[in-house]
Amino acid sequence: MRLISRTWLVLAAAVCFCAGTVRAESEQAVDCPKCHGKGIALEIECPSCIHSPKPGYNNMGERLEMCQRCKGTAKIIGAYCSMCTKGKVYLSQFKPCDGGTKPPPSGWLWCPKCMGSGVESWIPCNQCKRSKWPGYTQMGEGLMLCNRCNGKGQLPGLACTTCEGKGTVVDKTPKEHK
Ligand SMILES: [Zn+2]
Ligand SMILES: [Zn+2]
Ligand SMILES: [Zn+2]
Ligand SMILES: [Zn+2]
Repeated sequence: MRLISRTWLVLAAAVCFCAGTVRAESEQAVDCPKCHGKGIALEIECPSCIHSPKPGYNNMGERLEMCQRCKGTAKIIGAYCSMCTKGKVYLSQFKPCDGGTKPPPSGWLWCPKCMGSGVESWIPCNQCKRSKWPGYTQMGEGLMLCNRCNGKGQLPGLACTTCEGKGTVVDKTPKEHK
């Protein structure tokens, strides 16, 4: 009898442990660490009123009128954040290198050196490095996400030597229960 109850205890503990490694239903979306919850990667000067004496307003001859395009802010959205939806993210979906808490695959740990990115050093992306906004290239009046670096402004230069570019290392921590 005693033996059975003990087995159950171990089993229950194992179930608990596993449940902690997947995204819990109760996880709350939080402000995106990349854009601070704004959902916008960058704002650029409003092309409609940039030459106005009062940015955000247009000179109508006799008076100034609020610019319809930027609603008086003189800024328009240049690019939306590529990491989140409207500023919200589930941190368990991102690796530690992106500021998240995503659990590594079972039996593995995130590489302590690169935090899961698999990259040891980065080089500037030569497609967008001359842009005023690294990671983006100018397209007419707006900006376009650089398709080479995906908005990072940099490219992997050297694979991480600790994890050989995998981003994960074998978990050597001895398991407490069998
Ligand atoms: Zn974001
Ligand atoms: Zn404007
Ligand atoms: Zn690494
Ligand atoms: Zn680029």
